[in-house]
Amino acid sequence: MKCLNCENIAEGNFCENCGQKISTRRFSLISIFDYAVLNGIFSVNKGILFTVKKLLTKPGHSIREYIQGKRINYFNAFTLLLLLLTLAYFLEEFTGIKLADITAEGSEEFANLLEEFMKEYPRIIYLINIPLLAISSYLFFRKSKYNFAENIVLDTYIISAQIIMTLPFSILVIFYNNVEFIKIIYNIYSVITLIYAFWVIYQFFSKSGYKKMSLIFRSIFSLILYMILQLITIVSIALVKSHI
Ligand SMILES: [Zn+2]
Repeated sequence: MKCLNCENIAEGNFCENCGQKISTRRFSLISIFDYAVLNGIFSVNKGILFTVKKLLTKPGHSIREYIQGKRINYFNAFTLLLLLLTLAYFLEEFTGIKLADITAEGSEEFANLLEEFMKEYPRIIYLINIPLLAISSYLFFRKSKYNFAENIVLDTYIISAQIIMTLPFSILVIFYNNVEFIKIIYNIYSVITLIYAFWVIYQFFSKSGYKKMSLIFRSIFSLILYMILQLITIVSIALVKSHI
């Protein structure tokens, strides 16, 4: 059997050259659950700094290599997300920022609805974003032959990287709690995370045989669909909540 990480021909359960499991296969909806629960909880993963560095320097190429089988050096996407959500939770406990304070005027009613939702389910928003982004990238890049589970892995890394980018912002807000200032930072942050998602998706699917213009448009439209799905989901949940 050939090792997916280093292409060494190996016998037995582990590669003699790099140590990765020879049984490493494509992700499926069952295996990503397995991977998230079993590997995430019971194995001590190394490589968190390596993974963060890759996510910030060449994210699309790195995630593609990871999905195609070069897994041993990377920190598991789901464990990374859980760690980051925990960290974000503790940081937010210190800040106490209300979303209604920072969204545009004239949309107060919607902002309050959103605020209620965020207050009750602050971390769930990130978890909801993963399948929504996966539906969008899956639909616009079907020709690439990546399955839905592989899109979930891709998007779990994207959301994790976006949380990493909020961490300096959350720390800054603890020390400088000025609403006008936070508004500006929040808007800049929204733009940066969107550009980041575009960059990752573009890079990830760049080896799937799309022409450059097609790749650019598919990346943009998958993000537009993602934002529409996000809005629909949040408004629906908030509306249902407010009527109960
Ligand atoms: Zn190997």
